[in-house]
Amino acid sequence: MLLGPPGAGKGTQARKLEERFGLVQLSTGDLLRAAVAQGTEAGARAKEVMEAGGLVSDEIVIAILDDRLDRPDVARGVILDGFPRTPAQAEALDDLLARRGQSVSAVISLEVDDAAMVERISGRYTCATCGEGWHDSFKRPETPGICDVCGGTEFKRRADDTAETVASRLAAYHAETAPLIDHYRARGTLERVPAMGAIEDIAQALSEIVRRYETA
Ligand SMILES: [Zn+2]
Repeated sequence: MLLGPPGAGKGTQARKLEERFGLVQLSTGDLLRAAVAQGTEAGARAKEVMEAGGLVSDEIVIAILDDRLDRPDVARGVILDGFPRTPAQAEALDDLLARRGQSVSAVISLEVDDAAMVERISGRYTCATCGEGWHDSFKRPETPGICDVCGGTEFKRRADDTAETVASRLAAYHAETAPLIDHYRARGTLERVPAMGAIEDIAQALSEIVRRYETA
């Protein structure tokens, strides 16, 4: 299971683990869409709820996950992404896996420095002409206001990349994740990985953890 706030590189790291270990990343959204498209029994129940504008219950998500874990492509293991979100879901997941004779091997929390994350995300912008990425602190054009690559003078910032929105996304993440972190820490399955460094260094740290559980 991979936990990490927006901007921590969770998607990038999950793809690397898929390539290196033959794991399959399962996000709740993908699971639901696939089950609905395939018309499985649980998928049909999920479809009914979604069409009525409701929230798919934990019990249905667990049934869909149960079906998904039977498929041969996930024999080497999965990376859960976005589920569970609450301690109740985590307990339902523990129960499901126990019934299947499986368990969560590791819960990897990508740990970020919030202030540095705000600076990193809120400082980024791109050239409106060529799309080159720039940053207020880490990658400034040689001549202020002029793109080194194409000479363009128009730049764009994403509206939701302001310091305030990044800080509030991080706060929401911590509030949601803290109970889960406690849940898995109590079970001794929590691994904290500093995630502010280079992508390859983080990938290396994650690989070492997964390798440890592969050979366990
Ligand atoms: Zn440019």
